[in-house]
Amino acid sequence: MQAKESPPRLILTNVLVFLITSIIAFIVVPLWAVSFGFDAVEIGATIFLFFFTGMSITAGYHRLWSHKTYDANVVVRAILAVGGAMALQNSILHWASDHRIHHRHVDDNDKDPYSAKRGFWYSHIGWMLREYQAHRYDDYANCRDLQKDKIVMWQHKYYLPIVLVSNFGIAALLGWMNGDVLSMVLLAGVFRLVMVHHVTFFINSLAHIWGRQPYTDKNTARDNGFLALFTFGEGYHNFHHIFEYDYRNGIRWYQFDPTKWLIRGLSFVGLTKNLRRTPEERIEKARAAMQLQRASEKISTLPNADEIKQKLQSEYDLLVQRIGDYYATKKRLMELKKRQVLRSYERLELDFKYKELKQSLALQREKWLQLYQLDFVTA
Ligand SMILES: [Zn+2]
Ligand SMILES: [Zn+2]
Repeated sequence: MQAKESPPRLILTNVLVFLITSIIAFIVVPLWAVSFGFDAVEIGATIFLFFFTGMSITAGYHRLWSHKTYDANVVVRAILAVGGAMALQNSILHWASDHRIHHRHVDDNDKDPYSAKRGFWYSHIGWMLREYQAHRYDDYANCRDLQKDKIVMWQHKYYLPIVLVSNFGIAALLGWMNGDVLSMVLLAGVFRLVMVHHVTFFINSLAHIWGRQPYTDKNTARDNGFLALFTFGEGYHNFHHIFEYDYRNGIRWYQFDPTKWLIRGLSFVGLTKNLRRTPEERIEKARAAMQLQRASEKISTLPNADEIKQKLQSEYDLLVQRIGDYYATKKRLMELKKRQVLRSYERLELDFKYKELKQSLALQREKWLQLYQLDFVTA
């Protein structure tokens, strides 16, 4: 009989960091609040640093460096590098290397560093507590591009001093200016750090467990608007895993995605550029394909399943065709308008065709919506 494998060695530094900061955040800070209270400056600084360091992870580590969804000016990169170090989640290079593996081998228990299939605890924090992947970090081969970024390499080289100076230095300086160093360090330093830890860890744990899968069910990633409120917009994780090169996670204007707003906002003043978006056509097709699959599964036990399936398939094919036609015409019209080469009759003709296609797509969408929800099955 094979002996049960013992778990890998504990990483003592990580265990101690999580343990000590958690004790301070969950025990010392509440006791301090009851005994001495925190003033408005301390609370304001904590909220500011919470967003600054959290979004340095989501806008910087994640969407800028891991996925290259946009380009950022050197000053922005330097600020995000410091903010990210202050969130204490290892260097950009290390984080991005892990994250690229996560996307590439998502849910593979042996390769995905924080595979959600190993459970909530493991994907949330457990994966950092033991030497599960000690064999891996030889040369960050999947981040050759990042090794050319001077800011990334500077942060990697001086990671520890940057962590110490930013975490203790900034909070202590603010506290000194406000007249109470310890109080500020406890709240804006440690409490803020623990909060940012857990909300960003939720993206690896809860965002792979709880929510809907409108775009794909090939991996565990979920869309969850509620979770987006606590994760700087990264709750739209099902979209993110299928379209990882999109600078947005919440693609609709009403979806809460402050990371997207920050990146977009900075682009208006020239600090970020080349923001990448997935063509609307691909998004709509992915959603329709998922709906077809769901509807087919739902009807599979009905006596007339084959008949309904055929109907579903033909309406789906028509929808996909209409989507393709509409977006192709839209693209052509935009190109021609941009180049201003259209003679008036051509323009009229194409405009007319575009409007026609738009309308027939809208009709087909409507028809498809009713069909895939299978109103007729119960009727
Ligand atoms: Zn990602
Ligand atoms: Zn993920």
